Amino acid sequence: MTLHIYNTESREKEPITLAPHKKEIALYTCGPTVYNFAHIGNFRTYVFEDLFRRTLEFFGLKVKQVMNLTDVDDKTIKGALEKGVSLDEFTQFYKRAFFEDLKTLGIQKAHLYPSAIDYIPQMIAMIQHLIKKGLAYKGKEGSVYFSIRHFPAYGKLSHLCLSELKAGASERVTTDEYEKESIADFVLWKGYDPERDGDIYWESPFGKGRPGWHIECSAMATELLGETIDIHMGGVDNIFPHHENEIAQSEGCSGKMFSRYWVHAEHLIVNGKKMSKSLGNFFTLRDLLDKGYSGTEVRYLLLSTHYRTQLNFTLEGLNAARQSLQRLEDFVHRLKQVQKGKRASAQIKETKDRFNAALADDLNISVALAALFDFIRHVNGDIDRNELSKEGASQVLAFLKEIDHVLGVIPLKEREEEIPKDIQEAFTRRQEARAKKNWADADKERDYIQSKGYLIEDSPTGSRVKKNIM
Ligand SMILES: [Zn+2]
Repeated sequence: MTLHIYNTESREKEPITLAPHKKEIALYTCGPTVYNFAHIGNFRTYVFEDLFRRTLEFFGLKVKQVMNLTDVDDKTIKGALEKGVSLDEFTQFYKRAFFEDLKTLGIQKAHLYPSAIDYIPQMIAMIQHLIKKGLAYKGKEGSVYFSIRHFPAYGKLSHLCLSELKAGASERVTTDEYEKESIADFVLWKGYDPERDGDIYWESPFGKGRPGWHIECSAMATELLGETIDIHMGGVDNIFPHHENEIAQSEGCSGKMFSRYWVHAEHLIVNGKKMSKSLGNFFTLRDLLDKGYSGTEVRYLLLSTHYRTQLNFTLEGLNAARQSLQRLEDFVHRLKQVQKGKRASAQIKETKDRFNAALADDLNISVALAALFDFIRHVNGDIDRNELSKEGASQVLAFLKEIDHVLGVIPLKEREEEIPKDIQEAFTRRQEARAKKNWADADKERDYIQSKGYLIEDSPTGSRVKKNIM
């Protein structure tokens, strides 16, 4: 079975193959601007990228992933100057926070996290090369621009044409108010402005200043993954102008195709509206953790909508994710108790085929999850009828572990340690009272456990205490 993905450039689902003579997939994912905590809209993209990378690996492809950290930019410089600290000190804090958030969400680490600040010489070299090839020019203020009329393929990713660009030039373009020949030309090097930049600048052959955002990604991707990479990913808001500009710069320099596949995740909206601080519907991951949700619950919600569909984020949706995870946890617990039956589970192969086929079809996650939950219903029926054997249950657990390499959400380890000590003790006293048929004491302990937000689950295979999530 071959994995297919929708390529933004060709607008078609394409099979993913290794490039000739290559042993691994070179994957570049645009990372965060480290001036603040990332919000759940950003994390929708990063969780999807994680799901995609895990799927590539699940299908037997070796992956080398690079995710950049944008630490040289208008917003980071402004933040550092406002706080009166160095750029490095300012961005270190948010880099650390970002890595903590990735861990909370169960996102696999990229192989490299280059920071723009460490690749300024490579960016300058690229700009010099573009000037030499007649694709870039110096403006009046010590800035350098890319001349898009000299790059006829401009617009091939976003499928925009130059006349449309002039009419609807995006924000990132218009905020760079320098001397430009054409409104759609974009900045490669920003000339130093003492008012704006304080003491943060780099020396270059074009004068003091700093690189533009787009050249940062082109330079780091080329340096670390080569002139032609396999897959370049980001959110849909990166398509134009960021990725379009990366293509112009990189292909302008090398004369080779920059990326073989372009993959983009749709927006996240909250309660049907664009997320914004003024609407009060703006969430960082930390806001949700403060409300008592777990990273796995947020991950489950973010990955369970297909990446090319807008995700409408609601707290009800997050509660539903919590319930789905509880079902998974209950199922795992039940499997571990199985003793009596005589049969293996019949549905593993069929479920695996459905699950794989769904992922292979442009990561159709809803169909993949439906296959999983149908399977759970079926196996639960077998356990109810005492048919599933102990060995069969182990095979089911092994299968869950296998597909969790892709999903990263199935609670395969018991969470006993999270039950507070006083609840554990009350539970033990209750079991002892029941053994002595002392029902009054047993009920008293049960009431205590329930009053603390926990509940007892009695089943033919034994009892256990768990958090009441309803
Ligand atoms: Zn980028």
